[in-house]
Amino acid sequence: MTDVYELSTDVLVIGGGPAATWAALRAARDGADVVLADKGYCGTSGATASAGTGVWYVPPDPIEREAAIASRASLGGYLADRRWSTRVLDETFARLNELAEEARYPFPVGPDGRQLRNGLQGPEYMRRMRIRARRAGVRILDHSPVTELLVDTAGAVAGAAGYRRQAGEDYRVRAGAVVLATGGCAFQSKALGCDVNTGDGALFAVEAGAELSGMEFSNAYGIAPEGTSVTKTAFYHFATFYRADGTVLEGAGGRNRSPIAAELLCGKVFCRLDRADEPARAAMRRAQPNFFLTFDRLGIDPFTDKFSVTLIAEGTVRGTGGIRLVADDCATGVAGLYAAGDAATRELICGGFTGGGSHNAAWAISSGTWAGGGAAGYALSLGAGAARRRVSGIGEAGARPEGPRITGDARAVVSAVQREVLPYDKNYLRRGSVLADSLSTLDEIWSDVRDSLGGDGAERVRTRQAAAMTAHARWMYHAALARTETRGMAKRLDFPDQDPDQQYRLITGGVDQVRVRPDHAAVPAGAAS
Ligand SMILES: Cc1cc2nc3c(=O)[nH]c(=O)nc-3n(C[C@H](O)[C@H](O)[C@H](O)COP(=O)(O)OP(=O)(O)OC[C@H]3O[C@@H](n4cnc5c(N)ncnc54)[C@H](O)[C@@H]3O)c2cc1C
Repeated sequence: MTDVYELSTDVLVIGGGPAATWAALRAARDGADVVLADKGYCGTSGATASAGTGVWYVPPDPIEREAAIASRASLGGYLADRRWSTRVLDETFARLNELAEEARYPFPVGPDGRQLRNGLQGPEYMRRMRIRARRAGVRILDHSPVTELLVDTAGAVAGAAGYRRQAGEDYRVRAGAVVLATGGCAFQSKALGCDVNTGDGALFAVEAGAELSGMEFSNAYGIAPEGTSVTKTAFYHFATFYRADGTVLEGAGGRNRSPIAAELLCGKVFCRLDRADEPARAAMRRAQPNFFLTFDRLGIDPFTDKFSVTLIAEGTVRGTGGIRLVADDCATGVAGLYAAGDAATRELICGGFTGGGSHNAAWAISSGTWAGGGAAGYALSLGAGAARRRVSGIGEAGARPEGPRITGDARAVVSAVQREVLPYDKNYLRRGSVLADSLSTLDEIWSDVRDSLGGDGAERVRTRQAAAMTAHARWMYHAALARTETRGMAKRLDFPDQDPDQQYRLITGGVDQVRVRPDHAAVPAGAAS
């Protein structure tokens, strides 16, 4: 039997990306004792750390702000909420200014001598966020994936349990409140930085009784040079796409990747960033140097050479579905549980489409800050008795199998789920009949997981990840089937039009029995479709 390492704290933050570090920083500054537990090494793990990120940083000029909010209205299928968008713009503006002035982040300087604060280099950004959290007193547990939440006898979330990979021991953290900042779910597709993002937080939240929102908006696919994992997509707006025979692939240049997906089903697709003029090329290198590393290493000049591309699934990392929030402080509706970043739904600011870049980063900063504040306030209100509560683990699928014997193989489960969610003709170019077939396969996988998947120590981490990905896939397809129209990124080939009667969010819940219901109350007033 392994030893169990025990800790207690006011706030436990689960995750190690931007949402987690902003949450930890805010909770510590609000006077809470904070532990942050990351599956990887906080500062290098997750979708932001290995790349760079455009940020929705818009000065408080009424015209610019209005344009920023309006730019996502139609794209997101009129499901965004103006009040939340305004809050995020305000909070992001303040936090990025803090990053520049207090943390001395080295933003590049534009031709007018002013700093360009609408982009961050992942490695530098996250290195600084780790240092800032440490300086604020946050205790960081690296390489310590959480595998389940702990609840008290009233069902309030009271900590979490996991496994410390390098020490080879289980651990438990008792906490007054927990922030889930575990990122989205990219189904281990190999998209850059995303293989740690296996949807664990969503499974933890639903097991505790929380709900999800926008799970049909979960089929983001990023463009990458073939054979690489670099799904940085913003600059492909400057691209022309070509079929293998050299003819231009019409309609593939914008945000609609359907022509690329359809062509990739039967052949190769090539591309060249030939719509960027000289000043744009220089600006692109300045703004996102990481984007060019791959090309420089491969000896490709992306502005003049054609190179083959592929689409890699990013699921809810650049989709907008996630844990439903019920209050401004990112509370989930379960006492003691808060959510932030990609783990939480981003419908509030983007509706059903993130539209590439900027909003996700702004959301991670803002929601992280609010969730940290909310969790600190809640935990501190509990007083010293919080640490003495009787607690128990609530992880089921992949942790405590229902059958008498553990026979399941986590890797085989992941491969089976990937066969249903990665192919373009199942998840990107969606049709009801294909979704329904996939769902019945996923239900069988789920039943096997429930029956026989489990393990201890490092194996439990793998079995829980496999369970989380299976659960995610089922929530995704249940919601996708319920939306019988095309809205945001939830495109249905069998329902190609937007239906004004379906201008609502879809709430999904349940672990074994999945339920989907429309949330009519959440339709933003005044939004027209
Ligand atoms: C290539 C690429 C480019 C992008 N570019 C942009 C852009 O330009 N602009 C933009 O707005 N957005 C962009 N995004 C999206 C953006 O990166 C994410 O929205 C952002 O990283 C979300 O932050 P997060 O903290 O929620 O999640 P992440 O940064 O993914 O961090 C999740 C963290 O949770 C940890 N974790 C997961 N499970 C567990 C567990 N069980 N226990 C403990 N820890 C766990 C992981 O180790 C990781 O540290 C991009 C994404 C990709 C993949």
